[in-house]
Amino acid sequence: MRVTEASFLTSSPNPKDCPAPNKPEYAFIGRSNVGKSSLLNMLCDRKKLAKISGTPGKTRLINHFLINNSWYMVDLPGYGYAKLSKTEREKFKKMIDSYLKERPNLANLFILVDSRHDPIQSDLDFMQNIGTLGIPFSIVFTKTDKLKPGQLENNLSKYKEHLSEEWEELPPLFLTSATSRLGREEVLAYIEKINQSLR
Ligand code: GDP
Repeated sequence: MRVTEASFLTSSPNPKDCPAPNKPEYAFIGRSNVGKSSLLNMLCDRKKLAKISGTPGKTRLINHFLINNSWYMVDLPGYGYAKLSKTEREKFKKMIDSYLKERPNLANLFILVDSRHDPIQSDLDFMQNIGTLGIPFSIVFTKTDKLKPGQLENNLSKYKEHLSEEWEELPPLFLTSATSRLGREEVLAYIEKINQSLR
């Protein structure tokens, strides 16, 4: 898919404030600093569409972008801020949960994980929850350029092993790099395929 138009639409503090659910929507989520803004910019071929924030986890809003006038790309707030109080974190989790449960046009959730790290239990738990809710999701491994090919393969096998303990069938996995643009075509083709199936 070629991205011919990409524009920021709106930031919503709550799911009820989001745009009318009249287009398929693809949401991206991950821990702060996982490389989410960089990935979104890379996918859209725009340098500053999603703000790359210097302060990890600065954004706490649901950000909608309109792509090719036909689908929404959604930047969900990063989770796992050490700096938030327990009450704030709970409130935040509720907001994301209600978005995920209530958004009728959510076609796929891309869960981002840093390809350099071992699987994080809370990420695996999150995937388990998403699966239980019946929300289709894929895993996007970010920053692959920071690893040597052997290391990347190793980390990927380790991740797959962990997933296989809980899942009979693995979700689609994408290897990406905002620097080398690896995975751009694959992610966009995947979105296009779903868009076509929904038409
Ligand atoms: P976010 O908090 O998840 O939105 O993460 P950012 O996109 O702001 O990225 C966090 C840091 O990682 C920034 O310094 C980025 O330049 C860097 N980064 C993000 N993606 C990549 C990547 O694919 N390769 C490399 N080498 N660095 C990346």
